[in-house]
Amino acid sequence: MRDPSAFLSTEQEALVASGLDWKLHALGGPSAPWCEVDGQRVLMLCSNNYLGLSNHPALKAAATRAIAESGVGSGSVRPIAGNMSVHVELERRLARFKGAEASLTYSSGFATNAGLIPQLVGEGDLVVSDELNHGSIIDGVRLSKAERAVYRHADAADLERVLAEADRRAPAYRRLLVVTDGVFSMDGDIAPLDRIASAAERFGAMVYVDDAHGEGVLGEGGRGIVSHFKLRRERVHVEMGTFSKAFGVVGGHISGSRALVDYAFNRSRTWLLSGSAPPPVAAACLAAIDVLEREPQHVERLWTLTRRFKKAMRELGFDIGSSETPITPIIVGDSHTARSLSDALFREGVFALPIVFPMVARDKARIRTIMNAALTDADLDLAIGAFERCGRALKLL
Ligand SMILES: *Cc1c(COP(=O)(O)O)cnc(C)c1O
Repeated sequence: MRDPSAFLSTEQEALVASGLDWKLHALGGPSAPWCEVDGQRVLMLCSNNYLGLSNHPALKAAATRAIAESGVGSGSVRPIAGNMSVHVELERRLARFKGAEASLTYSSGFATNAGLIPQLVGEGDLVVSDELNHGSIIDGVRLSKAERAVYRHADAADLERVLAEADRRAPAYRRLLVVTDGVFSMDGDIAPLDRIASAAERFGAMVYVDDAHGEGVLGEGGRGIVSHFKLRRERVHVEMGTFSKAFGVVGGHISGSRALVDYAFNRSRTWLLSGSAPPPVAAACLAAIDVLEREPQHVERLWTLTRRFKKAMRELGFDIGSSETPITPIIVGDSHTARSLSDALFREGVFALPIVFPMVARDKARIRTIMNAALTDADLDLAIGAFERCGRALKLL
């Protein structure tokens, strides 16, 4: 009889043959500026741990203390028996940090987008999305019964065109939702949230921003994109984020009005039906907020290093695209060249992975670097030197 699961290996072989399969690297020890990757000591230039918080003593101590006091699991989902005081305190502190009326945490950023977006729009509604939005937004949109429209990347004028078209429809849409990444993870550019909010206001649309790569990076003390643009809070209806990037831990969250949070937790199935964060996770997230409030120097250091690195890469003659943030793509063209550059960098002791088609256009393959505040000046010099030598060896410079 034919094996009904035979497609698993045939499809996998096709992926391998086209070079589109992931080859996983083993990280030994913590995510730190110097790490062990596949048994080799290298400088980490591609983690999302922007501020080095995943290995910060205050976060580790908070997690350890929480385990001693409350164990390693919450025992339930939040609405039944898993609503611990540490969850409540985390949301109170996050709301204060964001300057919002209320915040709500989810098990991950992905679960936030997948759980909340389909509750904000449904049949008879329209969701308008930036063409380069993150996959978790795309899946959240797909889970809703709303109609979809896409606007050109980071183009508020094109968004306005799409909204104006939607406005002319009869019968009228019930609700409109505009959703965008705050910082785009492949190019490191920033969504024009001020102009997006203005366009949305003109047509009565809600605004949802996914600030996964903006938190801990943009705005006053790393408060994120709403702070970066100094927008009045009410102009952005949902500010979504994650504890898995600059905050150094794991877990998704939203901030906004009390009405948003009450609605979101009563409706999001990824919240209602998924176990709440283990005490050490919630406690470490809480400690991350403490560190951000108490030690703003990490964010400043991140930007100092980012400016130095971008300047050096530009002066060497690399194409770093339109990045405005600590995500700096080194665009080299085809996938093969990007892979060769990444391999050469690894031999020089620098770990930065290639991003190739289909994640980016075929001729825009790149090494995506992410700056880390915990790097020393000497570390950065070493990274720049490695890029220079490898770039010349591959005749990119
Ligand atoms: C990483 C990321 C997510 C997912 O967050 P997790 O908490 O890691 O699941 C969502 N949106 C964007 C833009 C991201 O970069």
